[in-house]
Order: sequence, then C-alpha cells, then structure tokens
Amino acid sequence: MKELQERILRDGKVLSESVLKVDSFLNHQVDPQLTMKIGEAFAEIFRSERITKVMTIEASGIHFAMATAYALGVPFIYAKKKKAITQADEVYSAPVHSFTRKETYQISVARHYVGKDDRILIVDDFLATGAALIGLAKIVKESGAHLVGVGAVIEKSFQEGRGLLEQEGIRVESLARIQSMSAEGIHFLQPATPSIK
Ligand code: 5GP
Repeated sequence: MKELQERILRDGKVLSESVLKVDSFLNHQVDPQLTMKIGEAFAEIFRSERITKVMTIEASGIHFAMATAYALGVPFIYAKKKKAITQADEVYSAPVHSFTRKETYQISVARHYVGKDDRILIVDDFLATGAALIGLAKIVKESGAHLVGVGAVIEKSFQEGRGLLEQEGIRVESLARIQSMSAEGIHFLQPATPSIK
C-alpha cells in the first residue's frame, strides 16, 4: 500500500535494526483517515472469502480490526490480555510472548463469540516474531472456526513471523513489508500485496 509506505518513510523512526516507532500515526496517536484506508485495503484483499468476523488483540490492533470489519460489514472481536470480572469463565486462551514488552501474557476470547460456523480474518498492526498472531490463530483453531488468513499492517520480513505462520498453512497478507532498516533508511519488499496500490 503505497500511501502507507510513504507515511512510514516520512514519519516512522527506526529505533534499532529491529524496532520501528510509528506512534505518531499508527499505534499511539492515530491517523483515522489512513486507518480507514487500511481497513478498506484488507477488506479488498479478503472480500471473496465470506468472512464473518475479524479478530485482533488489544490494544494496537483494535482500530485496524474496526476499520476492516466496518469495510466488510461484519463484527470484530479483540482478544483481551487481562481477564475482566465481567468476562465469562468460558474462554479460549493462548499464551503470547510480547516482542516489544518482553513479557508473556495469556490472551482470551469468550467462547460465546466464536464458533465453528465462523470464517475469521485476523489483523494486527505488526507482524514481527509472529507470537501475537500465532496465539490468535490457536484460539481460532480451538474454537473450530475457519481461519481465512492474517493481515498485518506492517511486516518486518527479516523476522520469523511470516515463515512460522506459513508453516502452519496460514495465508499472510501485509500492506507494507520491511526487508531491512537502519539509521540510513528503510527498505521495502515490493510488491507487498500485488492486488493493492
Ligand atoms: P510479534 O508477536 O509478531 O512479535 O509482535 C506483535 C506485536 O509486537 C505487535 O502487535 C506490535 O504491537 C509489537 N511490535 C513488534 N514489532 C514492533 C516494532 O518494530 N515496532 C512497534 N511499535 N511495535 C512492534
């Protein structure tokens, strides 16, 4: 997605060769127009898949799941990282190790909201080690729903996430694929997604 790549080049900050800061427009302060276009891009890629629900993980995936679900006309569900007292006991859960926070937490989704008749699209802001998306994929599998694929806004292609997901037979679509980055600049793999301008 050209506009996203241009924005990453303009406003992204390379903190190290493996960490990109995009919190001025993607995951702290958020650009709503760009977010809605991201949702439309994912919807266009997966339109023919008869998706019934979009799934993500709190917090940085929520606005992208919302935009994608809105464009597809379906609900979205976000996995919780901490169990609330209002949450049903009946949950699907999976452990996730956070790449940026260096901690492991248990994510959960109420069993009530996902079942074998669902066709699920998972989206998230970054695909890095794949831990978050693999945790979500486990939940979808356990529920008996069909996992249509995963969509990452930014994929760091030099990390192992895509390979691990593809090994599980999961379709991966990313709107910007970073091949390498350093203080000198950011290099994208082209094309990120052939069908998307
Ligand atoms: P993964 O589980 O694929 O390693 O990473 C998932 C989560 O880590 C993402 O949802 C994102 O919130 C965070 N993350 C991973 N890499 C980066 C990065 O380079 N920059 C930022 N800002 N977050 C990242």
